[in-house]
Amino acid sequence: MSGYTVAIVGRPNVGKSTFFNRLLEQRKAIVDDISGVTRDRQYGIAEWVGKSFNVIDTGGFVPRSEDVFEKEIKKQVLIALEEADALIFMTDTATGITDLDESMADVLRRSAKPVYLTVNKVDNHERLLEATEFYSMGFEHVYFISAISGSGTGELLDAVTEPIPEDRYATDEQSEIPKFAIIGQPNVGKSSLLNALVGKERTIVSDIAGTTRDTIHTHYNLFQKDFVLIDTAGIRRKQKVHEDLEFYSVIRAIKAMDEADVCLLLLDAEKGITAQDLSIFSLAARKGKGIVILVNKWDLIEKQTNTARDYEKLLKERLAPFTDVPILFISVKDKLRIFKAMETALEVVENRRRKVPTSQLNDTMLKAIAAYHPPVVRGNIVSIKYVTQLPTAVPSFAFFSNYPDDIKTPYRNYLENKLRENFNFSGVPVRVFFRKK
Ligand code: GDP
Ligand code: GDP
Repeated sequence: MSGYTVAIVGRPNVGKSTFFNRLLEQRKAIVDDISGVTRDRQYGIAEWVGKSFNVIDTGGFVPRSEDVFEKEIKKQVLIALEEADALIFMTDTATGITDLDESMADVLRRSAKPVYLTVNKVDNHERLLEATEFYSMGFEHVYFISAISGSGTGELLDAVTEPIPEDRYATDEQSEIPKFAIIGQPNVGKSSLLNALVGKERTIVSDIAGTTRDTIHTHYNLFQKDFVLIDTAGIRRKQKVHEDLEFYSVIRAIKAMDEADVCLLLLDAEKGITAQDLSIFSLAARKGKGIVILVNKWDLIEKQTNTARDYEKLLKERLAPFTDVPILFISVKDKLRIFKAMETALEVVENRRRKVPTSQLNDTMLKAIAAYHPPVVRGNIVSIKYVTQLPTAVPSFAFFSNYPDDIKTPYRNYLENKLRENFNFSGVPVRVFFRKK
């Protein structure tokens, strides 16, 4: 995962989400349903000729009044400019250049980052002739596409992905110090947690000023182990203007996540898990990150005998199918279990790096397979004779079979569960592949 982030900006109805959906095609988009100010904002991971990148459709503001509308859209463009690595500025040839396009262009033209002016709805030759008026906007990169038919999109994506290094196989993180990202909604207690750790322990080795542009990395040594905390909260403080904008925290969370080995997802005990938390959770899982869930402000909850157990059970129902995740009930205010949280994150790092010896893996898994065989498909007796762990950063297992395509999801899940029962992969997404023997 390159961590490269492309934002799609443009006024409503130009075709941003149509293009976005095409880009993600088989991959399920994560829809972030924020009521009120915006319509659905979507983000996901796109792949083009072996390069992957984050893509964010900034959504469309619901116009309440004309000036609010224009102001909000400009604000969003500014944030996208600040936070993304590149922008796709989408316009619509059917309407031609509008005032709002012009005022967005004024902001975007000054950008030091690549801006790809994309003229959409160029469905036929006639439209292409009309679309040439967009050259007058003065952008270096101009692309004519039809998001519906897909024409022209390949050329656009070639250009957009050109600056991304081909890092697909450069995922060996073993020798590095583990990095943790503290993520969560505004006000869950991210800064408080960081301050509590910084304040109490005199074990900070150094502040590494922005390994990447804008996240603060703080290096810790706790229990004789080194780790780095990626601070996304502190920066938000400095930039008061952005405080109210969810967009800002989402884009920050995604970037911190890309850099991290483990995400500490903070929840507010009183509020429970929100749709946006779940989006972030599944994005972290898809990115192969380790995850620890910290239910903060536990001091505010009135407790009876089974409160924590019941809370955990309900939470896991929401997290399904990925439920093998450590959940801790903490209070930053009372300093309850905050060091335990760091210890757990370090354990997840171990789990994520776990390499099961091939003989042990085969002994255990072939027994599990003998106890419950893959179902017969179209008269084919499906057998699995061998399993091996692949040399990847995220634990991945290849099962070799005579009919790999005939092994379906329920059996895949059975194997994953057996892997989890026998080897500790708590907090870690596990990948299972079937290959032809
Ligand atoms: P957004 O508000 O910018 O996300 O725009 P949408 O993706 O929701 O698209 C707005 C409308 O434009 C929808 O009715 C789409 O079907 C239509 N649209 C999107 N792309 C194209 C295209 O390439 N050609 C044509 N003719 N219509 C399109
Ligand atoms: P951030 O926006 O996620 O960085 O959240 P902050 O760290 O700024 O915390 C938001 C508010 O929650 C502050 O008023 C904190 O004092 C409060 N807070 C943080 N942790 C706890 C906790 O464990 N218990 C209680 N009761 N309040 C907390």
